[in-house]
Amino acid sequence: MDKKTNISVKKINILDLEQTELKEFLQKLGYKTFHAVQITKWIYRGAAGFDTMSDLSKDLREILAEKAEIGALKQKKILESADEGTVKFLFGLPDGNVIESVLMKYHHGPAACISSQIGCKMGCEFCASSKAAFSRNLTAGEMAEQVILMGRYGGERISSVVVMGIGEPLDNYENLVRFLKIINAKDGLNIGYRHITVSTCGLVPQIIRLSKEGLPINLSLSLHASNDSTRSRLMPINGKYSIDKTVEACKIYSEATKRRITFEYALIGGLNDSRTDALELSKRLKGLMCHVNLIHLNEVEGIALKKSSAQKELLFKKVLESAGIPVTVRRKLGDDIEAACGQLRRREIKDGEC
Ligand code: SAH
Repeated sequence: MDKKTNISVKKINILDLEQTELKEFLQKLGYKTFHAVQITKWIYRGAAGFDTMSDLSKDLREILAEKAEIGALKQKKILESADEGTVKFLFGLPDGNVIESVLMKYHHGPAACISSQIGCKMGCEFCASSKAAFSRNLTAGEMAEQVILMGRYGGERISSVVVMGIGEPLDNYENLVRFLKIINAKDGLNIGYRHITVSTCGLVPQIIRLSKEGLPINLSLSLHASNDSTRSRLMPINGKYSIDKTVEACKIYSEATKRRITFEYALIGGLNDSRTDALELSKRLKGLMCHVNLIHLNEVEGIALKKSSAQKELLFKKVLESAGIPVTVRRKLGDDIEAACGQLRRREIKDGEC
């Protein structure tokens, strides 16, 4: 609240700021820029407020508390899976929205899977997120806070981040890039770009733009089909950018960043899982620096699509392998806690709890 006017002034979320911006903010308040490093270190050591930042002067702490806040997410629900180490979080935002994030345990350390938007506009047929309404983009700080809170819960440094939760990250481009720089900052979370993966349904112009940012992050492309007619049936984005254009953009990305592209392919019974589909996919990806990740379709209530049989999956994998395409089957994590994108938020909205 502004004391003179009695009008409430929106506080700055410190987590939204890159280091240079935090320095500028301090300068505007009349303080030295070196406090930015102190503040950042405190935040990533777990400080939830400015009052505990004991190496800052009392007046700086007071002015910061008046003008700024450190995040705004509230833990609404935590579900621990019987699968070892997978934890799903439902976070509440001050505007009443809810988002989901997942903490996964891998041999190389904990990975945080975060949401980039509240809802999604892309309309993919198989995805629970598409069935719940789109509300808004998340800010960079709201994305970073998911990583911070999950790291705090797990008590271990997050070693990798995947932007594969609710939303289409490349449809929230500026905030996404800002977020990537924030979590990469040396005095902050210090997560190397090579340990960050962004998953997209294939927004071709943004993939090309991202290839020029100089951020060597991993790109995961949700392909899910080997031809335009099947892909367009499953993913409306294909009506705008054909498979040819999408794969070409991935090629440009991998050549610019020297990173291998992962193609995500959820096997759907009788729809995209035949031998012909596998052969067609092999042909398309031949010569590309890539890897195919076969996914078990998570069957979602109200969506008629069914997962493929184990036999079909094995055959599909063999066809790709014979063509020399590296392929893995994604480890199935957290089925019992509805870890599939958007399922928990959808239930929460249906139950009317938020
Ligand atoms: N919008 C981005 C990221 C969010 S979806 C994207 O499309 O990539 C994250 C991943 O989960 C994508 O590969 C998506 O295709 C996949 N996915 C969504 N619903 C699924 C379901 N029901 N079963 C299996 N994978 C699903």
